[in-house]
Amino acid sequence: MNDCLFCKIIKGEIPCHKVYEDNLTFAFLDIGPVSKGHTLIVPKQHADIMQAGSLDDALAIMTTTYQIAPAILKALGATGYNLGMNHGEDAGQDVFHTHLHFMPRYEGDARTFIKQKPSQEELAQVAQLIRQEL
Ligand code: AMP
Ligand code: ZN
Repeated sequence: MNDCLFCKIIKGEIPCHKVYEDNLTFAFLDIGPVSKGHTLIVPKQHADIMQAGSLDDALAIMTTTYQIAPAILKALGATGYNLGMNHGEDAGQDVFHTHLHFMPRYEGDARTFIKQKPSQEELAQVAQLIRQEL
């Protein structure tokens, strides 16, 4: 899928703030985070929506989530998290490459889903803090 944004990110053709990678999955910071450390966990194999991909890939993104969640919480001082997946246009999916949203939450968090616009420097710092815990 040459024109898929997330495939290009995975291949390194478009820059991202990478957090984690293994043979099946890739995780990077959302550029419009609803909370500090908002991370997208994606299968490397392209699929528009989860059911268009393999069950192995669907399970792999959850396995990665399970493995990296403690590091994200510890790195950023978060105390909880929301997981979300917009599955299909009517559900608000904008990027048609399966992705799981990991949204850290903090003590006293207003728990909104309003997208913020941190600077590239801020995102780079957050990604570095997370990578240091992995
Ligand atoms: P969804 O609405 O579930 O398809 O979410 C797509 C997410 O991708 C949104 O939260 C966007 O902020 C995020 N996004 C879009 N472009 C990029 C990018 N170049 N790097 C990181 N995240 C992105
Ligand atoms: Zn893709």
